[in-house]
Amino acid sequence: AVPTAVMVATGRGANYGILIKGGEALQRLEKIDTIVLDKTGTVTAGRPEVTDFFLAASGNDVAGTQSGSTAEDHVLLATAALERASEHPLADAIVQYAAARGLNPPHAEEFESLPGLGVVGVVDREAVLIGNTALMEKYGVFVEPMVSTSERMSVEGKTPLWIAIEGRLAAVLAVADTIKSSSFDAVRKMHDEGLRVVMLTGDNERTALAIAQRVGIDEVIAGVLPAGKVDAIKGLQAEHRVVAMVGDGVNDAPALAQADVGLTMASGADIAMEAGDITLMRSDLTGVAAAIILSRATMRVMR
Ligand code: ADP
Ligand code: MG
Repeated sequence: AVPTAVMVATGRGANYGILIKGGEALQRLEKIDTIVLDKTGTVTAGRPEVTDFFLAASGNDVAGTQSGSTAEDHVLLATAALERASEHPLADAIVQYAAARGLNPPHAEEFESLPGLGVVGVVDREAVLIGNTALMEKYGVFVEPMVSTSERMSVEGKTPLWIAIEGRLAAVLAVADTIKSSSFDAVRKMHDEGLRVVMLTGDNERTALAIAQRVGIDEVIAGVLPAGKVDAIKGLQAEHRVVAMVGDGVNDAPALAQADVGLTMASGADIAMEAGDITLMRSDLTGVAAAIILSRATMRVMR
């Protein structure tokens, strides 16, 4: 039987938009010492925008300038053509960017999405690759001439993406997402509760560290392929840590299920919500901190 105090707490949580699936989740939540946060859409808004665009040859940042150069348009058209077929939030940013410049991307052929790496395909009979360093390594694209440009963008918390055409580096662009204002206060409250806060992301380490540092997150596990997220949670549990995971994406579902408590944003994928123990109706981390405080207060009453 579920204790009355737990039922009361579950009801109180619901009033704050914290939907707890059963009293057990609340009881487990009290015991956690580590909270793992997905980056995109959880700590950040999940609505990234293109902020920089550098052609490989010129080295000039042409973001925000009027469309005109045929070389730029060529690369952007190829990029947007591929990303139009992708459902990733990063893809959306690139499609919007090309549209704002009045470009009409053609259809891509042989499109393939490589989760955690990027996208590949053929546009106007040219092989096109867009993604992170691991994708370029996989296809043997030489990126060295633009590594410093890319690193400069990642220390600013932006996500750099390489573009290669016919196996050669064509451009590097950066996509940036804004940190939800609620994230700062929520992480502070988690610290007040004595929790260790970890960011888990498929994005590169430099970018993840820059964002984590701004929010006050203690630890970063970056460059993780979607399938590796669940292993990251297992790794923390192997260190005898009791882990709550907060996420929103399709990629996050196995990790949410593996965590001692899984919390999902109502704005996220349905599959993520099914995998979680607690659903947060308000799409920010304030609800996570509130749920932890609620679980601790409830268990105190019961002892
Ligand atoms: P997250 O932890 O933010 O959910 P993902 O696993 O979805 O990360 O993606 C990890 C990385 O893979 C991205 O930061 C990006 O570098 C690359 N990537 C994924 N999808 C795309 C795409 N459609 N276009 C370009 N790069 C992509
Ligand atoms: Mg994600």
